[in-house]
Amino acid sequence: MGERAPAGAAKAANKAKKESGSPSSVKAAKQESRTALVRRARRINRELAEVYPYAHPELDFENPFELLVATVLSAQTTDLRVNQTTPALFAAYPTPEDMAAADPEALEQIIRPTGFFRAKAKSLIGLSTAIRDRFGGEVPGRIEDLVSLPGVGRKTAHVVLGNAFGRPGITVDTHFGRLVRRWKWTEATDPEKVEAEICALFPKSEWTMLSHRVIFHGRRICHSRKPACGACPIAPLCPSYGEGETDPEKAKKLLKYEKGGKPGQRLKPPPDYPGLPAPPLGGDA
Ligand code: SF4
Repeated sequence: MGERAPAGAAKAANKAKKESGSPSSVKAAKQESRTALVRRARRINRELAEVYPYAHPELDFENPFELLVATVLSAQTTDLRVNQTTPALFAAYPTPEDMAAADPEALEQIIRPTGFFRAKAKSLIGLSTAIRDRFGGEVPGRIEDLVSLPGVGRKTAHVVLGNAFGRPGITVDTHFGRLVRRWKWTEATDPEKVEAEICALFPKSEWTMLSHRVIFHGRRICHSRKPACGACPIAPLCPSYGEGETDPEKAKKLLKYEKGGKPGQRLKPPPDYPGLPAPPLGGDA
C-alpha cells in the first residue's frame, strides 16, 4: 500500500513543475503581489487535495463528545498516543454524565499515557460536568460555548466544530503554522493572527479540508527538522524548497506514515485511507 502514494505524489510533482517552472522560480520572485499569493496558495491547496484525497482528522472518534475529549487529550502528545488511549477511556466513560462522575484517580490512570494526566483529567471532568449541567448533556455547537468549557481553547473548538458539526474552520497547530510560514502565506506566529490571515486567502468552504491537508503534509513530508523537499510534490510552488533534503532517494527515506509505507495514526482510519491502521497501545513499542 505504501507504493501507491509516492507514485501519486510524483505525478502531482511533475504536473506542478510543468505549470510553474523549477523550484527556484518561486524563490527568485521577490515581491509577490497579493493576487499572485492568493493564486499560489490556492494552487498548493489543489495539489495537496490530489496528493491527499483521503485527508481527515487523525483522532479516532464516533461522536462530538469523543472528538472533544480526544482533542483535549492531544495537547503535548501525538494523535497516535491519544488514539491508543481512548478505547479504554470511552469504554469506561461513554457519556459526559459518566465522565463527570468519574473517580479522578481512576480516570488519571487511564489517560496517563498521554502525559500531563492530572491536568487533563481535571479538564475532562470539568468539561463533562459543564456539558451535563449547562448544555443538557450535549456538546454545544457554538464557538463561544465551546471555549467556555474548561481546557477548551480556540484550536480545540475549531477541530470540534469543523469535524463534528461541519462548521468551517482553520486549525492552527504546530504543523499548520510551520508550513504556512515556509510557504510565505503569512509571517505571523500568533495562532489567531495566522488563522485570520489564512482564512482571508481561501473561501470558507475550503477551510476545514485545507487544515487537514496541510497537517497531513507536515506530518508526512514537510517535517519540522528534516523536510523531504526532494520527494515533495509541491516543491515547484514552495519558496522554502531546499530547506530540507533535496536528493530524491534520500528524501524518499524520510517519508512517514502511508507515504513511507508505515502505519498511520488512527486505529480506525476511514475506509479510503490507503495506509495501515495504527497498532493498539503497546503494539508499537
Ligand atoms: S518539503 Fe520542502 S519543498 Fe516541500 S513544502 Fe516543505 S519546505 Fe517546501
